[in-house]
Amino acid sequence: MVGRCVCILMVLSLANGNAALAGAQGVTQAVPEIAALEPELEGLYRDLHEHPELAFHEERTAAALAERLRALGFEVTTGVGQTGLVAILRNGSGPVVMLRTELDALPIEEKTGLPFASKSKGLDSEGKEVPVSHACGHDLHMTGWYGAAKIMARRRSTWHGTLMLIGQPAEEVNRGAAAMLADGLFTRFPKPDFAISMHDEPSLPSGKVGFHAGLFRASMDSVDVTMYGRGGHGGKPQTTVDPIVLSARAILGIQTIVSRETDPLSPAVVTIGAIHGGTAGNVIPDEVRMLMSVRSYDEKVRKHLLESIKRQLNAEAAAVDAPSPPSIKVVPGAEAVYNDPEVTARLVAALRRDLGPDSAVEMPAKMTSEDFSAYGRAGVRAVLLHIGAVNPAELASGSKLPDLHSPKWVPELEPTLRSLVAAEVVMLTELLVAPKSVNK
Ligand SMILES: [Zn+2]
Ligand SMILES: [Zn+2]
Repeated sequence: MVGRCVCILMVLSLANGNAALAGAQGVTQAVPEIAALEPELEGLYRDLHEHPELAFHEERTAAALAERLRALGFEVTTGVGQTGLVAILRNGSGPVVMLRTELDALPIEEKTGLPFASKSKGLDSEGKEVPVSHACGHDLHMTGWYGAAKIMARRRSTWHGTLMLIGQPAEEVNRGAAAMLADGLFTRFPKPDFAISMHDEPSLPSGKVGFHAGLFRASMDSVDVTMYGRGGHGGKPQTTVDPIVLSARAILGIQTIVSRETDPLSPAVVTIGAIHGGTAGNVIPDEVRMLMSVRSYDEKVRKHLLESIKRQLNAEAAAVDAPSPPSIKVVPGAEAVYNDPEVTARLVAALRRDLGPDSAVEMPAKMTSEDFSAYGRAGVRAVLLHIGAVNPAELASGSKLPDLHSPKWVPELEPTLRSLVAAEVVMLTELLVAPKSVNK
């Protein structure tokens, strides 16, 4: 069944409409070097796809990219923020422009049916062996990043300034950008004037660039909770404090925070994604553990959500006379991503000029998070963009397609990869030949 789906995708990819054809012509005209690069890029993509590595374990991945970037003449430093890498290409005076790719994969068993599907295993944060796959498309991002680097290195007469490519570890756990910054990303290396990054996108047709100026992705904090009760026999609940009933009450209370306490026009999400407690139907356990993620755009809303969760958990525990108050550990995650509106407008204008008027489309903001926000917070004018990665006919059919982080997620490699490389080359060139007045 999986094999058949892949087959259908391949056939459909040959039958793209006129718009896609026009886009493809724009790509070929603006960045003609891509055609000759394709076999190398496809080989790199397959290799990265088959050998994914989890957050902060990306040694093989970083080494493979470092070797290739050194061969192009970049000054490469590895081990930045544990497993990250920084590659610099100096080309006279001018702005410093950073292009980021992520390096890490996810603890998900791949079920795409691809001939080069991952069979890799890795150790998760608790030392447990888990299957690993590139279910978020970071292998595509790395391949596009390398393709853009190769073309920019060959086109040095068309731009001036400093090109700074970074391979960031641990995006999936929202810790890699912070690790690189703490390890001197903007002090040991030139601090960029601009930073861009691109992510594959399941809601857009292959090769289409998605953009959104201003707030684009939510902040995200994790909350790790243990509710304490007093265990005992399932037939004698009167002798116990049942932490499962206590947790159930707390969950329902917490789910009223967004609906009753926050402004409906200010987005917020609280998801309790894990709940663990008990061992048997006739035993009331001593405790229950819950893992939550809390998202918003506004700092005040963010603070309110976290305080309200604590208040509700403590109040529920007090209401059932729990033997001790809950343990509540908040792990701060990513800040909200803010796309610099002026730089976004420049990039979109350059894409439409060079790759065709339909090459870039506005897309809505999302409640998912991205630690790319850390570079903007550090004072760099930053823009995170998306690249459509689903066959247009499949997308138009309205059928339920795999999403990011699904075991079946795989981008339609062509024309997504070609457009990704072209878009990155166009945007880097735009920023690296910019008139001085714009480079504030
Ligand atoms: Zn992801
Ligand atoms: Zn991702």
